[in-house]
Amino acid sequence: MADKQADSFTRAKTALASINGRVEKARRRFGAPPDHVQLVAVSKTFDAGQIEPFLAAGQRVFGENRVQEAKDKWPDLRERYPDLELHLIGPLQTNKAREAVALFDVIQSVDRDKLAGVLASEMERAGKRLPCFVQVNIGGETQKAGIPIDEAVAFVERCRSEHGLDIVGLMCIPPDGVPAGPYFAQLAALARTAGVTGISMGMSGDFETAIAMGATHVRVGSALFGKR
Ligand SMILES: *Cc1c(COP(=O)(O)O)cnc(C)c1O
Repeated sequence: MADKQADSFTRAKTALASINGRVEKARRRFGAPPDHVQLVAVSKTFDAGQIEPFLAAGQRVFGENRVQEAKDKWPDLRERYPDLELHLIGPLQTNKAREAVALFDVIQSVDRDKLAGVLASEMERAGKRLPCFVQVNIGGETQKAGIPIDEAVAFVERCRSEHGLDIVGLMCIPPDGVPAGPYFAQLAALARTAGVTGISMGMSGDFETAIAMGATHVRVGSALFGKR
């Protein structure tokens, strides 16, 4: 048992060092300042026992895409690692907003007025003002979440002035099967126009490209935890 634990710790440490090394190399090449890029370790589908070695190895920022799954896994881990930071990176239904506000530290998937309004009142009720990202449907795909590109800047403004949310950045998931670079460049330009500094983009297959385009948060799952 102890050997098995030591093995999974070593594996987590190695995987983290490898991804952090690649993040750092891409950051330097792009010329961004140190600490410009935050690694969000996407732990969806992996259980608490598989996540803990990554906490033990020093990773503190994680992403989950479902409220219920996060509720099953994270409260216990948080007791042991109170300084961890949990990001919601998946679609959020308004009837789950209260739980999301209780469980998460950052909401990356704000994409419509109704949700923004409900989140704002739940945060007020909980006495918490969580940093939020606006998710943009950067590929204009009907099946994907996110605010349309041409509505994004006005939506950020409404989130701030009407709903009172703390919008810190934009997030996107580009279309599958085509080079992501142009979409990343477009999200970065949109963030400048909207006056936000956070840019959450890039996953296991393309996070270095995302960093070259100005990502501040890369969301890496399978390259760290293995195949889902
Ligand atoms: C699953 C997921 C990721 C991580 O994807 P990998 O390809 O495993 O790195 C990133 N962002 C979102 C929104 C996800 O749902």
